[in-house]
Amino acid sequence: MVIKPKVRGFVCVTSHPAGCAAHVQEWIDHVKSKGPVKPGPRKVLVIGSSTGYGLASRVAAAFGSGADTLGVFFERPSEEGRPATPGWYNTIAFTEKARAAGLHAGNINGDAYSAEIKRQTLEHLKAHMGPVDLVIYSLASPRRVHPQTGAIHKSVLKPVGAPYTNKTVDTDKGLVTDITIEPATPQEIADTITVMGGEDWELWMEALAQAGLLAPGAKSVAYSYIGPDVTWPIYKNGTIGLAKNDLERAAKAIDARLRPGGGGAFISVNKALVTQASSAIPVVPLYISILYKVMKAAGLHEGCAEQMQRLFADELYGPQGPRFDEAGRVRLDDREMRPEVQAAVREIWPQVTTENLAATTDIAGYRSEFLKLFGFGLAGVDYAADVEPHLPML
Ligand code: NAD
Repeated sequence: MVIKPKVRGFVCVTSHPAGCAAHVQEWIDHVKSKGPVKPGPRKVLVIGSSTGYGLASRVAAAFGSGADTLGVFFERPSEEGRPATPGWYNTIAFTEKARAAGLHAGNINGDAYSAEIKRQTLEHLKAHMGPVDLVIYSLASPRRVHPQTGAIHKSVLKPVGAPYTNKTVDTDKGLVTDITIEPATPQEIADTITVMGGEDWELWMEALAQAGLLAPGAKSVAYSYIGPDVTWPIYKNGTIGLAKNDLERAAKAIDARLRPGGGGAFISVNKALVTQASSAIPVVPLYISILYKVMKAAGLHEGCAEQMQRLFADELYGPQGPRFDEAGRVRLDDREMRPEVQAAVREIWPQVTTENLAATTDIAGYRSEFLKLFGFGLAGVDYAADVEPHLPML
């Protein structure tokens, strides 16, 4: 099958297995180029391991520190005439390369919020890996079936309290327009916290502890975002921000349980990057397009692999241990939030129009990063060649 990109709004409905493998290899190459992080983690569970920050964390653990990894993710295999989701191909590529390097790489595809997938994960650990010394929690999901009530909760990306109007870009069509988003209802706020807040992370840590599968000194990290005030109504002060506050609450509760054993838990605030999750947020893709332009010009740009390599080498297993801000968070968004970077973004923001989008922003860089998420536009991949889309999970 010859596979071409088919972009529909903020998703691409096709993905390329060889391109996804080349993308994973780029991340592995980056991590290896930075040299080993030792002593680093030895046995790592990554929840949300198939794309974005979770996949980059898995690459950093395996190829930076030689860790065995178990990945949990929710991806769709190929069907008749239809390629699998990119996380499926990413995971196969990662697993082949990790196993070739002599590392254990286990995979569990299913709903991480469910009791069944937690049970399968514990079984895999007991049988193949033993207790883990690091748990990465990197889920980004639009819904959660609550394991106790069976109720379906849907997360929304909306402001809280008042409508929010700002510029946004249709990244596919290149149209810059104003968008007004009505505020969330109390039920939508509660549902978003149930999906993207900290309860599930706590359930995972509790299940691992009960099963004796947390090694002495085990650590856990989950990811958040803050960003500049231009996006606060839709992010930091919106429904997702309230869910992230709950994730911070959970970090403190988990930290209190891990600390007596010499471990700990914290939130890492990461940089805004093109991922499947961030491309669905209104206004944010325009911000990212401007931010990329500014950070690339200043030589400060980083992708998922660079961010996660830095998290492992400089913070989690850094010589001085993690460096926390006043709220106890690690700040990998330090370069994004530099005053000169944000001043440049603020200057460009009001000038952007449909007509000057290509000149005022890095929309070209945004689009090429977006296509890379689906395995398109990678150097060395022959996109005219027939490729086998039906690959079994390893
Ligand atoms: P992503 O969409 O690339 O990855 C999400 C992962 O979660 C995938 O592996 C997916 O398979 C998995 N997943 C989703 N629902 C699942 C379910 N029910 N069961 C099992 N696995 C499931 O997203 P991302 O952008 O890498 O986001 C990961 C974390 O990083 C989120 O907490 C996000 O808020 C945070 N973050 C993202 C950015 C950004 O700019 N993208 C910035 C800072 C922090």
